[in-house]
Amino acid sequence: MHDSHTTIANIERAIRNIPDFPKAGIQFKDITPVLADARLFSSCIDLLTANFQAGMVDAVVGIDARGFIFAAAAALKLQAGFIPVRKKGKLPYSTHEQSYELEYGTNTIAIHIDALRRGSRVLLIDDLLATGGTAEASALLVEKVGAKILEISFVIELSFLNGRQRLSRFPVRSLVVY
Ligand code: AMP
Repeated sequence: MHDSHTTIANIERAIRNIPDFPKAGIQFKDITPVLADARLFSSCIDLLTANFQAGMVDAVVGIDARGFIFAAAAALKLQAGFIPVRKKGKLPYSTHEQSYELEYGTNTIAIHIDALRRGSRVLLIDDLLATGGTAEASALLVEKVGAKILEISFVIELSFLNGRQRLSRFPVRSLVVY
């Protein structure tokens, strides 16, 4: 059994940096080597859910697409449901939508109108916090249906982009901080 400091260092070592992907100037954080390692993947889920036990969370909401991987596993661990927030146009039933600004243009995400019950206790998960636009818009969708966010958790935080400021209304947890 490693302490969490060692475990986080091992997760950080497994994250692969890809320069200029998907475009020049972006350093992409590739989490696929973390997922491929059963112990590291499992440690991520333990750490992402560390503040909760089964019964404390009604739903884990995951953000399209890498957020789904961690959120689904966290939902199983917490014996909670899994709810996807998806890019506009992907969910088949009636949705609420939320748009947010990108560097160039806007993005729109959606949630099924009946995905969460009013008062549901939600853990929101994505792989990475950058500017915080995606997570903030997702949090607004969760609140639109009357559910309550207990925490927003990320595997990776790019702290130099100050995404945490946009999420200051919520408890935010991240495992590996750059
Ligand atoms: P943001 O809305 O700026 O916080 O961006 C967060 C979303 O974009 C997350 O869903 C991430 O998966 C993705 N993302 C942003 N920057 C990176 C990066 N450098 N490496 C990998 N994914 C990223």
